[in-house]
Amino acid sequence: MKSELPLSSLSLEDRKRLDWLYDMISQQAKTFVGYPVNRMFDYRPLYRFLDYPINNVGDPFVSSTYRVNTRQIEREVIEHFAELLHAPKDDFWGYVNNGGTEGNLYGLYLGREIHPDGVLYFSQDRHYSIDKIARVLGLRHHMIRSLPTGEMDYQDLRTHLSLNKDRPAIVLATIGTTMKQGIDDIQKIRQSLQHAGIEQHYLHCDAALAGMILPFTDDPPPFDFREGIDSISVSGHKMVGSPIPCGVVLVRKQHVNRVAQNVEYVGIVDSTITGSRNGFSPLLLWYAIRSKSRREFRGMIRSCFEMADYAVEQMQSAGIDAWRNPHGITVVFPRPSPAVLEKWQIAVQESIGHIITMPHVDKHMIDALVDDMRDSSESRTMRQISLYVPDEPGVVADVAELLAGHDINIDSIDAETIGDTGVVILTVDRYHDAIEALKHTKYRLVPDRAILVKLDDRPGSLAELATRFKQAGINIHSLRMVNNHDGKALASVSTDNWEKAMDLVSDIRVG
Ligand SMILES: *Cc1c(COP(=O)(O)O)cnc(C)c1O
Repeated sequence: MKSELPLSSLSLEDRKRLDWLYDMISQQAKTFVGYPVNRMFDYRPLYRFLDYPINNVGDPFVSSTYRVNTRQIEREVIEHFAELLHAPKDDFWGYVNNGGTEGNLYGLYLGREIHPDGVLYFSQDRHYSIDKIARVLGLRHHMIRSLPTGEMDYQDLRTHLSLNKDRPAIVLATIGTTMKQGIDDIQKIRQSLQHAGIEQHYLHCDAALAGMILPFTDDPPPFDFREGIDSISVSGHKMVGSPIPCGVVLVRKQHVNRVAQNVEYVGIVDSTITGSRNGFSPLLLWYAIRSKSRREFRGMIRSCFEMADYAVEQMQSAGIDAWRNPHGITVVFPRPSPAVLEKWQIAVQESIGHIITMPHVDKHMIDALVDDMRDSSESRTMRQISLYVPDEPGVVADVAELLAGHDINIDSIDAETIGDTGVVILTVDRYHDAIEALKHTKYRLVPDRAILVKLDDRPGSLAELATRFKQAGINIHSLRMVNNHDGKALASVSTDNWEKAMDLVSDIRVG
C-alpha cells in the first residue's frame, strides 16, 4: 500500500525513498521468523490519535496538568496485567514503558534502592540488557551457570549465595530466556535463598516474551506475584504485538514510594525512569487487550505451540536436530548456513539458532525455511571435491596454487594417504570452475558423489562393505578398489542414497 495522503512538501525523490523503504520493510517481514515479535495486528482505528502530542509524563496513577494524555487508559492496561500476573489487589503499581529493557532497569533500580548494598545474581542465559543495567546501577553482580535448557543452575546459585550471605540478594529470574525460552523457577530460587539464610532479598522477573504466554497455558511453572516476586517486566511489542516497541512493568506499590518525587512544574509525581512518556503505546496495548478475549488469547497461544511442534517435527524429519522447551515456542537448532541466515531473519548465538513461532509464523513459512535448510546442507557437502593424488610432498601446495591461479577460493583442504595413494578433499567457493580447472591436471577427480572409504586389504573386506549397504537397504551403483598397499585399501562407492550412505560409513569414510 502506497501512501495516498498529501506529501506535497516532500520532493519527488524523497517520496520515492519512502515508497522504496516501505516496500523493503514489507518484503523483509516475509522472512521474519527469528524474533519474538508478533506482527499480526491492525491498529488503524487508533491512527487519528497521532494528530496530537500525547504525553503521559509522570506517574500514571496521579493526575497531571499536562492534560493531553491517555493516563486513564494506561491505568486500565496496568490493572489488566496486574490481574493476569496475580499482583496483590491493593499493593501494585506500574506503568507502560518502552519495552522489556526499561522494565528490567526499573525493577532492578527499585531493588537497589531497597538494598543499596545488595548483590545482583543472574544466569548466563540472561538477556544482554542485564549486564548494561548492572553497570548503570553500579550493582555488584555474579553470573550463575545455566543448564543446557537455558534455565538457571540452582546448585551454582546456592554456591554464590552462600559466599555472599552477609549481603542482601537481588535476584533476576529470566522467565523465558532469549535463545532457548528456559524458565528460571521462582520456587527453587526462593529455596536457594532460604538455604543460604538470606532474608533480605528482592526478586525481579524478566518475562519479556513469556509473561504474555504462560498465563494462557495450563500448568505454567511458578513465576508471578503469587510466588512473592517484587517486580516483573513484560514486553508489549512481543506477544501482544505493536508497531512501536513498548512494555509493562509491575511492582509492589510499597517499593515505589521510596523513589517517587513530586514535581510542581508538570504537576506530577515522578516515579518513572523517563520524564515525558509515550501516551500512544498505552492505547495500542489497551486496544489489543480489549479487542481479544482471554479465550481468544488462549487460542492464539495454543496455535503458537502447535506451530512450534510442527517446526520441530519438520526439521527433525529433514535431519535437523531441533528441539524446544516444554513451556516455550522457541525452536532451537544448530546454527544454519550463511546462505540460510542471509535469506531468513533467524537469531543465532554461537553454535545455535532459533525460530520463534509467533502468531504470524505459519506452515508455509516453516516449510520454506526447512527446504532452504535442507538444500543448503546438501549444497555445502556437494561442493566438496575429492582428488586422487600421488603420495609425494608438495601436492597440497600444487593444488592450492593451481586453484589460486584460477581465482578460486579454498574454504578447506584436507589430505590423507591410504596405502600409496593420497586423497585431497577440498571445499571451494566456485565448485564448477574448480572442477574445470582440475580436469586438466594429472590428478584424478573422484566422481561426483562417490564416497571414499578405508578398508583393510584382506580377502572379503569389499564383500563386507557391500553387505553393510545391502542390510541398510541402500543400492550400490558402483564399488571399486582404488588401491591396496601395505595392508590398507581405499575403495570408492556410489549409491542411490548419498545422505544415508555417508552416515552408514561414517566410521571408515575419508573426508
Ligand atoms: C526481548 C527481551 C528483553 C528486552 O525486551 P525489549 O522489549 O526488547 O527491550 C529482555 N529480556 C528478554 C528475556 C527478552 O527476550
